Amino acid sequence: MYVKCGDLVSARILFDRMPYRDRISWNAMISGYFENKECLEGLNLFFRMLDLSINPDLMTMTSVISACELLGDGKLGRELHGYMMRTEYGGDVSVFNSLIQMYSSLGCLEEAEKVFSRMESRDVVSWTAMISGYENNFLPGKALETYKIMESEGIMPDEVTIASVLSACACLGQLDAGMELHELACRTGLISYTIVANSLIDMYSKCRCIDKALEVFHLIPDKNVISWTSIIAGFRINNRSLEALIYFRQMRHYLKPNTVTLIAVICACARIGALMCGKEIHAHALKTTEYDGYLHNAILDMYVRCGRMRPALNQFNSHTEDVGAWNILLTGCAQRGQGQRAMELFHRMLKYKIHPNEVTFISLLCACSRSGMVSKGLEYFNNMNLKYSVPPNLKHYACVVDLLGRAGHLEDAYEFIEKMPMKPDQSTWGALLNACRLHQQVQLGELAARHIFKEDTKSIGYYILLCNLYADSGKWDEFAKVRRTMKEEGLILDPGCSWVEVKGKVHAFLSGDIFHPQIKEINVVLEGFYEKMKAAGFRGQECSYLDEVENAKADIFCGHSERQAIAFGLISTAPGMPIWVTKNLYMCQSCHSTIKFISGVVRREISVRDTEQFHHFKDGTCSCGDEGYWDKIDHKA
Ligand SMILES: [Zn+2]
Ligand SMILES: [Zn+2]
Repeated sequence: MYVKCGDLVSARILFDRMPYRDRISWNAMISGYFENKECLEGLNLFFRMLDLSINPDLMTMTSVISACELLGDGKLGRELHGYMMRTEYGGDVSVFNSLIQMYSSLGCLEEAEKVFSRMESRDVVSWTAMISGYENNFLPGKALETYKIMESEGIMPDEVTIASVLSACACLGQLDAGMELHELACRTGLISYTIVANSLIDMYSKCRCIDKALEVFHLIPDKNVISWTSIIAGFRINNRSLEALIYFRQMRHYLKPNTVTLIAVICACARIGALMCGKEIHAHALKTTEYDGYLHNAILDMYVRCGRMRPALNQFNSHTEDVGAWNILLTGCAQRGQGQRAMELFHRMLKYKIHPNEVTFISLLCACSRSGMVSKGLEYFNNMNLKYSVPPNLKHYACVVDLLGRAGHLEDAYEFIEKMPMKPDQSTWGALLNACRLHQQVQLGELAARHIFKEDTKSIGYYILLCNLYADSGKWDEFAKVRRTMKEEGLILDPGCSWVEVKGKVHAFLSGDIFHPQIKEINVVLEGFYEKMKAAGFRGQECSYLDEVENAKADIFCGHSERQAIAFGLISTAPGMPIWVTKNLYMCQSCHSTIKFISGVVRREISVRDTEQFHHFKDGTCSCGDEGYWDKIDHKA
């Protein structure tokens, strides 16, 4: 009775005073310890019982195995495995099931497989243990395969099976298989389990069907923290971060978010530059107990991406022992083209005895590349393995191609690729293609593109690079061809969207937005600037405006939505206040020069973060030094 109530101390006193302890009381006492997660005490008693030659019952056996799993003690687990095979329960399904469970959660999949294959009859729990074992050990393909076999043997899955297989589908991007499971879950009624619905949300989100995920979400009668977290994270990975914020606010009416939720929302804030919301969550996070390293770094990343270096450094300074935090700062330097600062940071990091990892060198090389520090970058690359024991991987090779290419050494970059000790991948060729775009080298760019599309025809980014290369070089026929291919491949471009935060509220502007309540005022402001630009004799501006056809063609890659966001920021904030805009596409030449002009006229600092980098506009110039925006107009003219 005491055991059942969780009062183990009283139970133990009673147990110790018992004049005669039978098998039942031993087993009850031991199970009591395990049920209350006091594994060590339970195991001690278990061994005392064995010493007295009292036989454990089935329940005790399975809980002892689970205890080994909880304690992560594989050696003891194996010994128990051997012992159990010699007892009367050696052939029992539930013993086998807990063994599979234990081995796979300890990462010993081969042993789990051995147990599984030796079973004479397997029930749904055995199959599920094996499937989730694969799934948890990063073998989603095997998980799905095993499920198919289970299905063919006519065994009906339960809610745990379906949830595990759905996670596998999510990892593999297997939408079809996932949808079949959805149907099955509806047919069998298993969808009423929240764990199944949550896995469906996750699967649909990762397969880029966020609207299907939403459907499932709204049908859950009792949404738990995981349901909310899954849909919030889903919005973020489907580039609908503003909705992630809206759902987060709704969620807080019903439930307390956990660390995973907070990380998902913070990432969404970082994505769209929602600083106030990010700060709010930061304040909330400080009050919660589970403020861990991941959350800490997510907040740091948010400040860095929002371009707020002071709070970022405060955040960083309390966490300098984590290489991840250093990497985030280094990435921030790279995005701002601050090579010198990145170098200083790197050497400070070494002084703090933080060992750099692969990501460190990616950020460092990127920063060198963005600052044109070619020889420094090459030096770091050559020393990576020698001095710091970090062998370069494909990503680092791509960084070096970018380093050489960006600086205009296109032939060297090409030669570097040809001499690589491993097969170059798409991102390596992509770096070359990007460099060719910057320097308008059509031929070499086409060669790089051919290499890319041989392996990968689905990544939209490379098509955009190639289109931009053609557009910037005035090759409109080729441009149109690439656009056609994109359509044939069924690739859909995200519509251009910009976000600006005004008084703590994030406003989104879609390309060609006509629905914003203040759209008239916004357009009047913009027209005013265009007039002034013409009067100031901006040839480039006129040129791209006169040539409507060309303009329309290049439009889709920028959408120019940042102009509306900036105009809205200008009319909604006090004079002199800086304006911060975030956009989801790459900023075009025309927008770049327009905003430079605006920053000079209004005497305000305007920051725009596009997919590539930060642009800080001030007094008619940009911090990026116009990289990637040189001389293109002359080529067109
Ligand atoms: Zn634009
Ligand atoms: Zn710029």
